[in-house]
Amino acid sequence: MSDFLPTGIQLTYLVAASLFILGLKKLGSPATARNGNIVAALGMLLAVVATLLDQHVLNYEMILIGLAIGSVIGAVIAYKVEMTQMPQMVGLLNGLGGASSALIAVAEFWRLLDSSQPIPLDVNISMLLDVLIGGVTLTGSFLAFAKLQGLISGTPITFPLQQPFNLLLLGSYLAGSAYLIRTPDSLPVFLAVVAVSLVLGVMFVLPIGGGDMPVVISLLNSLSGVAAAAAGFVVMNNMLIIAGALVGASGLILTEIMCKAMNRSLFSVLFSAFGSVSTATGGAAAGASDQPVRSIDAEEGAMMLGYARSVVIVPGYGMAVAQAQHSVRELADQLERMGVDVKYAIHPVAGRMPGHMNVLLAEANVAYTQLYDMEDINPQFEQADVALVIGANDVVNPAARSDVNSPIYGMPILEVDRAKQTIVIKRGMSAGFAGVDNELFYKAKTTMLFGSAKDMVAKLVSEVKQL
Ligand code: NDP
Repeated sequence: MSDFLPTGIQLTYLVAASLFILGLKKLGSPATARNGNIVAALGMLLAVVATLLDQHVLNYEMILIGLAIGSVIGAVIAYKVEMTQMPQMVGLLNGLGGASSALIAVAEFWRLLDSSQPIPLDVNISMLLDVLIGGVTLTGSFLAFAKLQGLISGTPITFPLQQPFNLLLLGSYLAGSAYLIRTPDSLPVFLAVVAVSLVLGVMFVLPIGGGDMPVVISLLNSLSGVAAAAAGFVVMNNMLIIAGALVGASGLILTEIMCKAMNRSLFSVLFSAFGSVSTATGGAAAGASDQPVRSIDAEEGAMMLGYARSVVIVPGYGMAVAQAQHSVRELADQLERMGVDVKYAIHPVAGRMPGHMNVLLAEANVAYTQLYDMEDINPQFEQADVALVIGANDVVNPAARSDVNSPIYGMPILEVDRAKQTIVIKRGMSAGFAGVDNELFYKAKTTMLFGSAKDMVAKLVSEVKQL
């Protein structure tokens, strides 16, 4: 029995790991993503049950208490959080993942110190890496949460001698680690290394902001996985190593995709304090323009849409806030019944999380075949009679193409200004996430339909029906 149990646990881990990989594969397509989520969750259930059967578990009461508290908090948050707050939520969860991994290293260090056993070199190195990556993930993610939640300014924050200060911190971490490798049982140095790692997390995210936040969130997600894998090496748990490596690798792939979407290299996102310099030195600031805009009402908008041959709908963050996706689908259905060809253009960073628009439109049962990625739809805008922008701003801002001083310069956009007419639905002239004015709104071919997305689209539906 005593031999059988560990073998059984390892085999269950193997099955769980296979389910994770299968789940990830299925997450690659919208058609199978829901199923993939269930498969991966099943794998996680198996992994948790197998781990609880491990003979090394000493105190089931504490685990059950932790499980109960964590489940209640998790369930309440999951019910309360709005879809538009998902990036903050993901940021918070990444941070907690990093904290758990770092705490495993701290607890193991304490246990080894108490037991007066020598700390093996490989465990020592794993602990030091775990503390660094877990610590950076914890404070970095919490700071990202605060930026996205608006608790502090979302723009990059820089100060004089920031880079030398960061180098000094990194040097202190390396010096502390080198000391601990020679003298593993020094508690004060270990605690200093933990503290430096936590400060490094803050320093890492402080100079990043604006449009680069999606990239930093997915990078922190990847780091939370790497921290978990390092924790797996500390306690020699294969499941933790595999699960951590999968999160680390998939997070890195997502980071790469987000970088491509923003036309930025990871290096420039991390080290160029993108945004702060640019917003200060150039690019039209929010509300800076006093140029006139052409505003229409729902009746005129309905006429433009109803008599068009082809309409491309461009959803953005405002559609998500207003929860207008069902009305948007209704409008599209009505237009199609009238013989209009309707397509949806999806920008990879529209909204506030990767895949945000896809999720919302799927919820409203919009067919996947109607959704077009940026590369596929951009060449089609010229033939479109109307581009209908619903609560999108940064992702359709032509300054990204033409204004070298704009903080979003270089980010690929949906080229709605090439359509024959563009209708923009938004409540006023407020800027989007990047905080810059949008020259699209002042162009001759653009008309503004001011109002909240859900009400305005509902009005369009009823007006279009009367045509
Ligand atoms: P933006 O944030 O650029 O703009 C959204 C616009 O929606 C605002 O200008 C606002 O204008 C309007 N709006 C707000 N509420 C409503 C409403 N109820 N009805 C109608 N309109 C409304 O959105 P985009 O989707 O164009 O761009 C996403 C931005 O977020 C990018 O800069 C991206 O980098 C960033 N980002 C993306 C993440 C991701 O993973 N997708 C994560 C984090 C950031 P008004 O107030 O005048 O109505």
